[in-house]
Amino acid sequence: MVEDIDFTTEDTAEIIEQCEEINQVAQHSLRGTLWLDDASRTLGSTIANILAPNSCWTGQVRQLSLQLIDEMNNIEADSMVSFADLNVDILHLGVNPFLQPAAKESLKGAIAQRGQIMRINSAYRTLAQQLMLYTQFRSGWCGISLAARPGLSDHEDGLAIDIEDYSNWRPILENYGWEWKGPRDPVHFSYRAGGTRYDISNIAVRAFQRLWNKYNPDDKIAEDGNYGPATDLRLKKSPIVGFGVIATPVPTTPSPQPETPSWRILRLSQPRMAGEDVRQLQEALLKANISVEVDGVFGRNTDRAVKQFQQQNGLQVDGVVGEATRFKLGISNTAIAIAI
Ligand SMILES: [Zn+2]
Repeated sequence: MVEDIDFTTEDTAEIIEQCEEINQVAQHSLRGTLWLDDASRTLGSTIANILAPNSCWTGQVRQLSLQLIDEMNNIEADSMVSFADLNVDILHLGVNPFLQPAAKESLKGAIAQRGQIMRINSAYRTLAQQLMLYTQFRSGWCGISLAARPGLSDHEDGLAIDIEDYSNWRPILENYGWEWKGPRDPVHFSYRAGGTRYDISNIAVRAFQRLWNKYNPDDKIAEDGNYGPATDLRLKKSPIVGFGVIATPVPTTPSPQPETPSWRILRLSQPRMAGEDVRQLQEALLKANISVEVDGVFGRNTDRAVKQFQQQNGLQVDGVVGEATRFKLGISNTAIAIAI
């Protein structure tokens, strides 16, 4: 049973999280626990469903996290910007490579000065991820010995990174306005040089509250930017694949009318298409050496991958997975008919 957060206590002081330990858990978890293997469970899961002793990787809430970041930018344009375009290596899919714009600019300068790739273990952490970590810490799970309450972690302000090779990066980052957290948390740097514009933590909470209200019109909560009990309760009920993603069952019995395809045309849509057929598509793309995340949800990343495949195979580049694209990918049920 997951313990509820006690909002009456005053544990609001900044704490020094053990970032190295948290990052090790993340990398470890990739080799073990539940994740994309069980698509149906993933698609129907809420955060509360995945809060469990051996369910440690915060990347499980990746799609919800990306949706939260999108919504933050709907509230304040460019409040968060991706730095994945810099010379960085993002070490796993639980990492959201986002910073406030001023922090990104200074990081860009530091990386250019050293002229080497920077390996990133953690950057922006969403409310959903922090809720996971905090629960793991409070419940004694996953070896997390300290984590801040949602809304209070240094990683939730869009100004923090955890990196490898920190001792060599330290002097350069310090020149560019980044503060080293010190020996108790040596992998962690925070941008302190100013030019930041937003109270990101407040925007992050509002972004969640807005999304929740949009998809739960009968259960609205205050959009006040405060992470209190009402918000905490809804966040736990939130779908890990994001709001508005509908898992459409794929027909398993042959269609009574032979001319009706027993598969559906897959494409980028709102709400997102999700299911076993999307997962098969993604696996086929991977086999064709197109890089794509196999998560069973047809998002922008899958759209890009499909277009890349279509481009490489002389197909119409429209991101729509119809008969021709399916045939080339080797997932067509009607392959014989087309081949003849
Ligand atoms: Zn950190």
